[in-house]
Amino acid sequence: MKRNVVILTALAAVAVGTAAAAQLLPKDTEVWSPEPPVTPPGPLVAAPPPADAIVLFDGANLDQWVAVKDKGPAGWTVADGVLTVNKAAGNIETKRSFRDYQLHIEWRVPADITGAGQARGNSGLFLASTGPGDAGYEVQILDSYQNPTYVNGQAGAIYKQHPPLANASRKPGEWQSYDVTWRAPVFGPDGALVSPARVSVVHNGLLVQDDVVLAGETVFIGKPKYKAHGPAPIKLQAHRDPSEPISFRNIWVRELPPQA
Ligand code: MG
Repeated sequence: MKRNVVILTALAAVAVGTAAAAQLLPKDTEVWSPEPPVTPPGPLVAAPPPADAIVLFDGANLDQWVAVKDKGPAGWTVADGVLTVNKAAGNIETKRSFRDYQLHIEWRVPADITGAGQARGNSGLFLASTGPGDAGYEVQILDSYQNPTYVNGQAGAIYKQHPPLANASRKPGEWQSYDVTWRAPVFGPDGALVSPARVSVVHNGLLVQDDVVLAGETVFIGKPKYKAHGPAPIKLQAHRDPSEPISFRNIWVRELPPQA
């Protein structure tokens, strides 16, 4: 009799555990405080790519990019030297794959942006695209100028892993920049993690991620985890919120030799 009670209790515990796992919610991994200090950046100084850079977008065309969903032509809009997200076309990624690199990208939230929180100028820079959709490691792009949200989801955050050290956001309508140093994760021949990914991000001239270690791929729900991958494309996000699409310009990357 007592043994049956123990078994039933154990079964009930498993059932409760399963139910809890099924009820993981996005808000479980949101962090709302402390808020990074608001630090007004200086003006953007536009500079041409270094001589050894691989130019990913120079204002002319999307020759370096494909649609993530079918590897067909990237269906975003190029006009007046600027690349603008086409949300209906979905995410785009580079044709080339990269391991470790330095990257520069400029982005602009439109002056007439509407919406709030995560539904206001949301996009993303995926440092390695490891699969369809939002698979990979996202540096959040968002209008974080006087737009509260969870701090590990604001502009400059490693999404749901590391809030930025400062809120360096410029107003909507102004160009902003990210300068990123990406050290890709290293996996052994058996797929086991040898060393985790590390990243530094400078937002509008301010260091907002200082060589932080990633716990795995960035995910909307649940805990990050790694899955083995090699060199990977760089991806830009067409977020499905209804706010006006953001734009990009002056995107380049310099490959870095792996660290020993
Ligand atoms: Mg995003």
